Amino acid sequence: MAEMLMVQLAERSYPIHFSAELRQEIRAELEAFGRSGRKVAVVTDSNIAAQQAQTLEEIAAGAPTLVFPPGESTKSLESLGRVLDFLAERHLDRSSALVAVGGGVIGDLAGFAAASYLRGIGYYQVPTTLLAMVDSSVGGKTGINLKAGKNLAGAFHQPRGVFIATKLLATLPAREFAAGMAEVIKYGLLGDAELFDQLEHSPLTLASSELPAVIRRCCAIKARIVEADERELAKEGGRALLNLGHTFGHAIEQATGYRRFLHGEAVAIGLASAARLSQLLGYLTAADVARVDAVLTAHALPTRLTSALPVAELMAAMTRDKKMRSGMPRFVILTRFGESVTRDGILPTLVEAIWRQVGAL
Ligand code: ADP
Ligand code: ZN
Repeated sequence: MAEMLMVQLAERSYPIHFSAELRQEIRAELEAFGRSGRKVAVVTDSNIAAQQAQTLEEIAAGAPTLVFPPGESTKSLESLGRVLDFLAERHLDRSSALVAVGGGVIGDLAGFAAASYLRGIGYYQVPTTLLAMVDSSVGGKTGINLKAGKNLAGAFHQPRGVFIATKLLATLPAREFAAGMAEVIKYGLLGDAELFDQLEHSPLTLASSELPAVIRRCCAIKARIVEADERELAKEGGRALLNLGHTFGHAIEQATGYRRFLHGEAVAIGLASAARLSQLLGYLTAADVARVDAVLTAHALPTRLTSALPVAELMAAMTRDKKMRSGMPRFVILTRFGESVTRDGILPTLVEAIWRQVGAL
């Protein structure tokens, strides 16, 4: 049975549908489009086209489909141009919609194309990675990378609907599944102590019967946060809480040229770091920090930098963070498991101490 969760954003509200398989639901939605003479186009990547060929065929049902090479380099200005030209060549109009079938890369790219084509058309998200299911497909952040950095061009553009079909994860590489788990653990830490406990007592795998419910739970947390602060404008807390572990994580990704760690892996080390910072500020105990490390480890995620990186390089990467406010970036701190706050004005010496704790030189 398909379940549904609404993201309540007034006229931009939309449903997130959950089930093992959702091909029929997606078809029904898109066929309704066709019946009223409106067009759809599909964007995906070649891994999904190869490994989920049948699902893709059923979703697209003959609609024009644009297939990109897999990987972060697809989130480029050039790809954006290709999607926009593709839509124009196929005569999609303002009543048309785009369907993104893929991970965060395809979702961000297709979402941004939908945001800018004819000043904005509708789009649907069909996430195929765990990370996209719990995070990037919900909330309307779209964008591409520029030469100068990641996600430097983009738009807030909420989808018309999100279809989360957990069976699509069957072909996802194990390392990608683990990377998505970093975001799941993040949700437990920042807003759902019960979820954290559950992950602590029985680590989640692709085969877990709880997997769909856990994904739903993460989407519910994200939906509530996005509803309260759609554009991340809250003076404190709000959508920025979703950045738990990311201030450290983004610095790690940058300092390693986005090659050594997957995003989720860098976030895992970031969560271990954020837990340590929370301890240093007097909120968590050493035993709490050990629990965070253990949950990450149980989900095949790193908690330390695997090869030594200079503290100075990580600090430099941090101050280039897009979310920086007056000199040092804003951090998300755990006040306890399941409760987090944003914090400005953390002293650089404290942050340096944390970097050393997680293995920087
Ligand atoms: P993310 O969702 O983590 O941002 P990507 O969009 O880069 O990541 O997807 C990660 C990798 O997994 C890519 O190589 C992509 O082609 C591949 N991939 C995505 N979904 C699936 C799937 N369901 N089965 C197999 N491979 C997939
Ligand atoms: Zn993330």
